[in-house]
Amino acid sequence: MDLLVTGGLVVAPEGPRRCDVLVEGGVVTEVGAGLRAPTSAEVVDAAGCVVLPGGVDPHCHLVQDIPAASRAAALGGTTTALSFTLPEAGEPPAEAVRRAHDLSADEGSLIDLGFHASCYRPNALTAAEVADVASAGADAIKIFMAYGELGIMASGDGLFRAMSYAAGCGLPVQVHCEDGEVIEALVEQAGEAGRRGARAFAASRPPVTEDLSVERTLAVAALAGARCYLPHLSTAGAMARLRAHRSGPHARRAPVAAEVCLHHVLIDDREYDGARAGDFLVAPPLRAAEHLDAVRTALSDGTVDAVGSDHSQDRTPVDARIAGGPGAAYGIAGIGARLPLLLSWGRRHGISLERLCHLLATGPARAFGYAPRKGVLAPGSDGDLVVWDPEVAWTVQETSFPDGTGTAPYAGRSVTGAVRFVSCRGRALVRDGSLAGGHPAGSVLRPNGAP
Ligand SMILES: [Zn+2]
Repeated sequence: MDLLVTGGLVVAPEGPRRCDVLVEGGVVTEVGAGLRAPTSAEVVDAAGCVVLPGGVDPHCHLVQDIPAASRAAALGGTTTALSFTLPEAGEPPAEAVRRAHDLSADEGSLIDLGFHASCYRPNALTAAEVADVASAGADAIKIFMAYGELGIMASGDGLFRAMSYAAGCGLPVQVHCEDGEVIEALVEQAGEAGRRGARAFAASRPPVTEDLSVERTLAVAALAGARCYLPHLSTAGAMARLRAHRSGPHARRAPVAAEVCLHHVLIDDREYDGARAGDFLVAPPLRAAEHLDAVRTALSDGTVDAVGSDHSQDRTPVDARIAGGPGAAYGIAGIGARLPLLLSWGRRHGISLERLCHLLATGPARAFGYAPRKGVLAPGSDGDLVVWDPEVAWTVQETSFPDGTGTAPYAGRSVTGAVRFVSCRGRALVRDGSLAGGHPAGSVLRPNGAP
């Protein structure tokens, strides 16, 4: 648990500087020049490398295979993953949180985990259930404005009540912003017209369905006085509405944090015409180039607070009315790729290390109440860090991030910069770019101020 990382360019809260980082008992005790290691410490030479706080992935669905996902995460420099729970039929959301905590302890994770409480019966949610979610140690509740076909879509009044209850106990509300009612009509129409496959899937969830839902969600949040977090925003219209809300009269009463996901930054919808189209089915779908441009601008100008992977251990079957074949399913893998691929893309596009560090670690940790323990490299923070060599050029292989999903949507991409060393609470997870071995010792996190 004692570690000294020497001579790297350390991305500290006050900006990058060349210095050392000392971790003792799993916690950062000093960041400065000429530090001496206790005899028990592992010493890592980071000369020529960048030292970042361990990545915090704000958006994953891991409970089907936590150990495998945690290995891919570690290889990609992510030391904290915030996963959605997966309630069973009729299970109260807080029970699913407690079950996820038990599962994490039983199965073992290399990295630390926190949980967002999925609410699958949003229109029947009670104030007591939301308060119990906070007591169970979740960092947010999650409401879906889509997926009527799965029976989990919130109505307008359901959204308002959920937001009011969450505001009452200080929990942020995550809202999946796609207008499920309009999507249902488009799926039905496509099915009747015989349109099938990846293009039909994407066309059933067009940008305007996201824009409508973002607008409605922000208006309801203002009425309820709720703090919200909007995951996987992907359209130019969503970014415009976000900025309008923040410069409008309700910004203080209803503060909003915004996330985009790696695939909506890197991959455009031309993949839906390619041989691997099925690998890129995800909701919201990949977007046209003009939306990627808007998302990229929002990443660099500060509109976006966090970049997630939306990593899904399991995929969901595509609605039979528009499925291109019997096995068609949606959901994307990316917990391993997120940090190295965003760093590579960001440096090529002139985005500062501080900004990339914010998007990959500090912003997600802050949004859910885990900073400065997580997402920051400063005395008192956990000894979670990544040593990243900015010069190495490599190509993502099918096997680069063995996450157990059986898919590798980023395979074939050229990347500049490689993860060399990773620690979680001072313990080495990755040395020389490979898993260090050793027993999974990740812990379950509760946000600041949780009971
Ligand atoms: Zn998701």
